[in-house]
Amino acid sequence: MISFYPGPSRIHDDIPRYVKEAAKKGILSINHRSDEFMHISEKTIGLLKKKLNIPDDYTLFFTSSATECWEIIAQSLVARRSYHLYNGSFGQKWYDYTKRICSGVRQYPFEREELVNPKKYRFGAEGGVICITQNETSNGTQVSNETIRLVSENNPNHLVAVDATSSMAGIALDFAAADIWFASVQKCFGLPAGLAVMVCSPRAMERVEKIGERDHYNSLTFMAEMMGKWQTPFTPNVLGIYLLMRVMEDSKSIEAVEKKLVKRYNRWVDFFGNSSNLTHLVKNTAAHSFTVIPVAAPAEVVTSIKKEAKKKGLLLGEGYGELKASTFRIANFPAIKKEEIEKLQRFLKSFV
Ligand SMILES: *Cc1c(COP(=O)(O)O)cnc(C)c1O
Repeated sequence: MISFYPGPSRIHDDIPRYVKEAAKKGILSINHRSDEFMHISEKTIGLLKKKLNIPDDYTLFFTSSATECWEIIAQSLVARRSYHLYNGSFGQKWYDYTKRICSGVRQYPFEREELVNPKKYRFGAEGGVICITQNETSNGTQVSNETIRLVSENNPNHLVAVDATSSMAGIALDFAAADIWFASVQKCFGLPAGLAVMVCSPRAMERVEKIGERDHYNSLTFMAEMMGKWQTPFTPNVLGIYLLMRVMEDSKSIEAVEKKLVKRYNRWVDFFGNSSNLTHLVKNTAAHSFTVIPVAAPAEVVTSIKKEAKKKGLLLGEGYGELKASTFRIANFPAIKKEEIEKLQRFLKSFV
């Protein structure tokens, strides 16, 4: 089965080889306080910074999922206020999770076809956290680096936190433009699930210290203390970190990866532009995600495409939430191969 699911998604071909390598080297049972682990952790963080262009003075953390990152931010960084700009299910879930933990949580939903207008968002003097979902996996839209930078510049008292779960390691993110970034690895990183990466600016780390929240196993104060020794407060996903290290070692620069994905995205837009039955769900091309392509079609066409695709060994992403019956999604992630996209396009040709 070739997976075009936008998470968990197709893993890199080399993963089974790396797993075998890890077993042979005894990595599967190393102690997370050992020098050997600290070396792997340090190296992985160095590679992430280098390959993804993360500023050197940012601090990286390993967590288990993007969902955990939502909670960590709510616990350790939102003192009182958070402001959630979203247009889809993941952004809304982030808002919902934060609301259960914090009291001053506000939402600013916008339309799927609408671009975030930075001028509209100027928040009060009291420092809070502005939460933006960079790539909304549920509906295939994205917020540009430029917009994130402007929201940040217009709100100098606030931190900006960005959910980049389905874009980090796929497109070139401007890490300097925001304070907190996070992604789990089962999307663009092309790795098995169970690990996430969280990236914090020096400003974010100052806030962590000022708030000094120490009530949870994953409080950022503890995480930061342990990261001083390249460790985590809990036993982390050691195999996941090792696989991440190996994938990063072998990956091209993020600019080269992005170039490949944007080219493929353009081909998908052309493909659906020439179809009468199948259309990109989002009319406003300026709002399009490069990494998740949502396709709209009459419900009966969607049903038969999904059924026939499975028979051909092609796994498509289900439409999300209320879009389930009328859409399907195609991941445009780096691990997917050119031949696989061609195979899917040949298949879809009979439905256009
Ligand atoms: C997949 C996804 C999540 C959830 O990731 P988990 O690793 O399952 O917690 C959060 N946000 C976005 C944008 C996603 O695509």
